[in-house]
Amino acid sequence: MTTIRQQDLIQSVADALQFISYYHPVDYIRALGDAYHAEASPAAKDAIAQILENSRMCAEGHRPICQDTGIVVAFVKVGMAVRWEDATMSVADMVSEGTRLAYMDPDNRLRASVVADPAGARRNTKDNTPAVVHCELVPGDRVEVSIAAKGGGSENKSKFVMLNPSDSIVDWVLKTVPTMGAGWCPPGMLGIGVGGTAEKAMVLAKEALMAPIDMHELRKRGPKNRLEELRIELYDKVNALGIGAQGLGGLATVLDVKILDCPTHAASLPVAMIPNCAATRHAHFTLDGTGAAHLAPPDLAQWPDVHWSPAPTAKRVNLDTLTREEAATWQPGDTLLLSGKMLTGRDAAHKRIADHLARGEKLPEGVDFRNRVIYYVGPVDPVRDEVVGPAGPTTSTRMDKFTHMMLEHHGLLAMIGKAERGPVAIEAIRKFGAVYLMAVGGAAYLVSKAIRASRVVAFADLGMEAIYEFDVKDMPVTVAVDARGTSIHHTAPKEWQARIGKIPVTAD
Ligand code: SF4
Repeated sequence: MTTIRQQDLIQSVADALQFISYYHPVDYIRALGDAYHAEASPAAKDAIAQILENSRMCAEGHRPICQDTGIVVAFVKVGMAVRWEDATMSVADMVSEGTRLAYMDPDNRLRASVVADPAGARRNTKDNTPAVVHCELVPGDRVEVSIAAKGGGSENKSKFVMLNPSDSIVDWVLKTVPTMGAGWCPPGMLGIGVGGTAEKAMVLAKEALMAPIDMHELRKRGPKNRLEELRIELYDKVNALGIGAQGLGGLATVLDVKILDCPTHAASLPVAMIPNCAATRHAHFTLDGTGAAHLAPPDLAQWPDVHWSPAPTAKRVNLDTLTREEAATWQPGDTLLLSGKMLTGRDAAHKRIADHLARGEKLPEGVDFRNRVIYYVGPVDPVRDEVVGPAGPTTSTRMDKFTHMMLEHHGLLAMIGKAERGPVAIEAIRKFGAVYLMAVGGAAYLVSKAIRASRVVAFADLGMEAIYEFDVKDMPVTVAVDARGTSIHHTAPKEWQARIGKIPVTAD
């Protein structure tokens, strides 16, 4: 019988969540370094370099890898010979209490992204609680914890299907991954759960993402069973789709594919797929009754020797004098370094702007989008002398339904976000001669260093979703949809799929 203190689990969870907010797992960073060296697509290579540079900066500065510091997911295996000392909370509440402590830590405050009443008021719980906890009683006298902070962008791309037993899992994955776009911030991993029941397959897919990346080792030693064969086949074929880093077209879409399975009903083949993004964050610890767990900091010498700097061909753009005519000269794939003032806004601000318009009201004093650039972002709060915390782009497709309104009624000139735009937004961009620019998801701390001043302009009550004005210097972006409506997220993956040549390219 081992005695575990409630406080030891709480403190271990808090420490682990702080740890993973700024340290990528070394296996991920090594695999990304290999992908950087192998990458042949200049745009994808630049994006990977930004993610690597950001990762090193975060590890050194102890600040979050991404502005979305995630929703906490924990798998807790409690030995049946464990006795809890002074426990007043459930195990799930202990994990949530550790989450609260981690996210409120004044030295590295993390963004609270969890909202209660999700089908109604969607009220931010302010401390990122509750965590999602999967607890299991197992033989033994230890408590084993795997804990992750899962980004919303990648979680939103989760998929599930009930296949017929004779259907091909590979065909379903290859058909489904392109529909996920790039909002899950590749290169990352795919977690796949096969079998059980519907909910079991989803949990298996999530748990699969907790394992270290070992595709290189697996290929070297060769598969030993059907699941390992399937992992290799999916890894090769998904990468042959040519989606590439951030959907910019290239060789590295996934760094690994993880699969867990369990027996299922003879009539069923449930398959779940959950991607993990460039902000892959997970840690593992065991409590054995001797106190809180200690996670040893990684040796930064293990980070690949890759240092990002802007491409010599990057165009410098002054946002304060930018005209529609100048923006119309940009081509998809052009890299720009933006300087000057831009406004921010994401889901809640767009909804409010739409509500104002519907009521025939003017926008609040000082908010004028005419010929301006908007950045879809919800930054982390600053600490110490920071102007703003990590401030990477959020998924742009969520703003697609507001794009026509923003261009027609508010005269917006350009948008910055992450990943692709949908057909409705692209048509509006073409119609109004606007442009869409893409920043790298998963490079939030690097991007925040380009922000020299920040002030709230409107909707302060929305917190990180308020409208800010940022004054930036040399903020790196890529032209993703030009003024004629050509999208790099449509053209580049097809081009790279054809170049890789392992999967036929079909017209959409
Ligand atoms: S890397 Fe992308 S998907 Fe992952 S947490 Fe950051 S913004 Fe979200």
